[in-house]
Amino acid sequence: MSRFLVLSDIHANLEALEAVLSETQGLWDRFLVLGDTVDYGPDPDAVVAAVRALGAEAVLGNHDAAVLGIYDTSQFRREILPVVEWTTKNTGESAKQWLQSLPERIEVEGAVAVHANLADPLSGYILSKEQAREQFAISPFRLVFFGHTHLCRVYLQETNGAISGWTPKHGETVDVSRGRFLMNPGSVGQPRNQDPSAFAALWDSERQTIRFLRVPYPVSITQEKMLRLGFPRELVQRLAYGV
Ligand code: ZN
Repeated sequence: MSRFLVLSDIHANLEALEAVLSETQGLWDRFLVLGDTVDYGPDPDAVVAAVRALGAEAVLGNHDAAVLGIYDTSQFRREILPVVEWTTKNTGESAKQWLQSLPERIEVEGAVAVHANLADPLSGYILSKEQAREQFAISPFRLVFFGHTHLCRVYLQETNGAISGWTPKHGETVDVSRGRFLMNPGSVGQPRNQDPSAFAALWDSERQTIRFLRVPYPVSITQEKMLRLGFPRELVQRLAYGV
């Protein structure tokens, strides 16, 4: 049981999640979810139900916490606030109870999973080599999985301390025995790598490899649902560009 599907920022996008699940069928035994399972997208209940049914080991994200009413949304961009409100009203009790039960970090097979970063698991950022260096300095782990930025990204700290960062291509496999790593698989439901595909990663903890995937999905179906619900046009349109 060492093959993991690692997903982040699914954001209530059922079409994107289903595409990833169908593409990776049979390739994993365990499922790690790095938070922000809901908000932004039109299907919070269905996405939570799918993730739970697959026995996901998940952490809480800041948007999950916002929907539970336990996160200060004053720093959110203004156009998302009506969607936070809609999601709060339209997420069922059962899904909310599951979200409420999620920890801010999970340790698994010598790695750790958080939504944002180790110092500030809900709201922090890892967007630069400098921020990566701060995380490596406080991390006792060889491998940290994070999300939150919606940007697929890898940071490597080699044994001599040198840090490098890059954006893995579709199908790229990274050998994680080479050093210490911070890994963001990218976002399933609202990717921002200028590629509208749903982003995913497959981690084999025994072979110490991570393979990065980008899975196309029918974006226009998700967009139509969002338009029908009256979600802000900017949020709808960005899905087509992956920005
Ligand atoms: Zn997010």
